[in-house]
Amino acid sequence: RPTGAEAVLAGLDEQQRAAAAAVRGPVCILAGAGTGKTRTITHRIAYGVHTGVYTPEQVLAVTFTARAAGELRGRLSGLGVGGVQARTFHAAAMRQLRYFAPRVLGGPMPELVENKLRVVAGAATRHRLTTDRSSLRDLAGEIEWAKTTLATPDDYPARARAAGREAPFEPAAVAAVYESYEQLKQRDGTLDFEDLLLVTAYALEEHRDVATEVRGQYRHFVVDEYQDVNPLQQRLLDAWLGGRAELCVVGDPHQTIYSFTGADPDYLLGFADRYPDAEVVKLERDYRSTPEVVGLANKLIGMAPRRTGLPGLRLMGQRAAGPEPRFLEHPDEPAEAAAVAAACRELVDSGLPAAEIAVLFRINAQSQVYESALTDLGVPYVLKGGERFFERPEVREAVLLLRGAAAGRDDGSPLVPAVRDVLASVGWVEHRPPPGGAARDRWQSLSALVDLAVDLVAEQPALTLAGFVGHLAERANAQHAPTVQGVTLASMHAAKGLEWDAVFVVGLVDGVLPIAQSLARPDAVEEERRLLYVAVTRAREQLTLSWSLSRQPGGKRARPRSRFLTGVAPDAAVPVRTRVARRVEVVLDGPAGELFERLRAWRAATAAQASIPAYVVFNDATLQAIAETRPGSLTELSALPGIGARKLELY
Ligand code: ATP
Ligand code: MG
Repeated sequence: RPTGAEAVLAGLDEQQRAAAAAVRGPVCILAGAGTGKTRTITHRIAYGVHTGVYTPEQVLAVTFTARAAGELRGRLSGLGVGGVQARTFHAAAMRQLRYFAPRVLGGPMPELVENKLRVVAGAATRHRLTTDRSSLRDLAGEIEWAKTTLATPDDYPARARAAGREAPFEPAAVAAVYESYEQLKQRDGTLDFEDLLLVTAYALEEHRDVATEVRGQYRHFVVDEYQDVNPLQQRLLDAWLGGRAELCVVGDPHQTIYSFTGADPDYLLGFADRYPDAEVVKLERDYRSTPEVVGLANKLIGMAPRRTGLPGLRLMGQRAAGPEPRFLEHPDEPAEAAAVAAACRELVDSGLPAAEIAVLFRINAQSQVYESALTDLGVPYVLKGGERFFERPEVREAVLLLRGAAAGRDDGSPLVPAVRDVLASVGWVEHRPPPGGAARDRWQSLSALVDLAVDLVAEQPALTLAGFVGHLAERANAQHAPTVQGVTLASMHAAKGLEWDAVFVVGLVDGVLPIAQSLARPDAVEEERRLLYVAVTRAREQLTLSWSLSRQPGGKRARPRSRFLTGVAPDAAVPVRTRVARRVEVVLDGPAGELFERLRAWRAATAAQASIPAYVVFNDATLQAIAETRPGSLTELSALPGIGARKLELY
């Protein structure tokens, strides 16, 4: 049996192995979705460590999302390698800057801007611009674009015109707001996310001692999702490298989905020009998805106008055949959401863990209707977007309470019981999830904090409550949320790099995907097509694409399905009638002892609908009453005809 280094390579195919074994770099892996790019860099790092080329601490691996960074660390420890710095650009910069701030900025690390839009609004007011929330967001977007493309306020007007940017105000006005925005931050002594990267790069460029220290620490660099690197990130990367070439980048030009915010795939495509001795590896075998999903992905990319200089990256499915992708048309959005929720319910009931399912949409506002549909059917879900977790009110409150408790406690009492105690004081009861809605979300968030404490204690048995609170603050800054179990609801952007057994890509109408703002510009429309490619290639087995003809029930059915489906979906898409389980709400507010009788009576009255699965939604108080007055009665209740035991248990 192979051991150590050999075992690490054994998990790879021939091309992947070539990339992994070239441990010193420069190496560039240019390949389509699901071909094992992330797997290869993971194994490559492990191989380098096992063969003694570098130690884990000398590796800095940069990925795009906190979740991806967490997964990378997880996979590495699975390969027997702990201690590698796998972070987002922001988290890596934050860590370094916090350490170097006194030397570079002459004081402690500045606070981050808490409410960016408010600062932008302040800047806009200085120039007497009338703004609303949407124009403020656009202005903030323009400032962000300028900063990530390294354009100063003076550069902005010419650059914006050349790039065909559309802003709510004249370029000169945007530039003026940008300048005032910078001044306001300076006055307050705060930094935004772009500043974090800028200041860190500056520290390395201008402070020789800082550069020597950081470059001495990190000898080997790895960047995942390199197609979406922007000039600001590239500048930081160059500052880290300091002219060295021990670098491995991986990416897929067809998955460039951030060029609107400044990402530039030419860094990936031009890698071999920049490093003439680079090893360039192409991977074509798709290990993630069934041939059916791969076929659809190939078709989608095949429809895109060919960009010169772009390598053809056809995917070859490696897995056994699976179900055909489904294309479903619905009369309205609530119906679409109900059908998706019912399908999720069915998958979960058939044994698929909810965490293996994702619902992907174009804009975050779409999540609401899916949240309520899933809640109706009692399917647990998590909203993707790590930054949100620490902003949830219950999490903020819990962190404050934990901090208070840490202050008044002597250190060592064991961590996990201490966390449980604090959360219990705000009504959290372990193993008793509320039936649904906001209460369930709250319970899940708080449980995630306990899970996190349990995980951390496994690594650091002596961790104190104060240490835990410090760790939470660091995670909150790094936007690194703990995982909560449930169906993932995520924007297509947030889904990149990830995979699920079953994926629902929803809301595929023109004006949503491609998004309305992109329609006037062909390059923007192409970015939307790539976004759909990213979305469909997340599915391992089951893929459902859907759209609805109107937004509201009873509305005019006039929304055309997404143009990207033409030539991909069957022409005359058959409107599919999915049988949707009704939401049956029974308010059981009497004494718990009467429940059986009332439920039986209710089921008898609805006997005609017995073929429709019933989902009984209990409210918090009822559930509590049942559990307290008749322990074990939930199981008895579930024996009633027409109510599935498994279904009931979930409430
Ligand atoms: P994306 O472009 O979406 O980020 P990727 O190229 O990074 O995709 P990975 O996530 O590394 O792809 O791999 C996709 C899936 O295929 C993973 O589940 C991975 O474990 C599996 N896989 C990759 N290579 C192999 C292999 N040689 N043998 C078995 N499974 C593999
Ligand atoms: Mg990947």
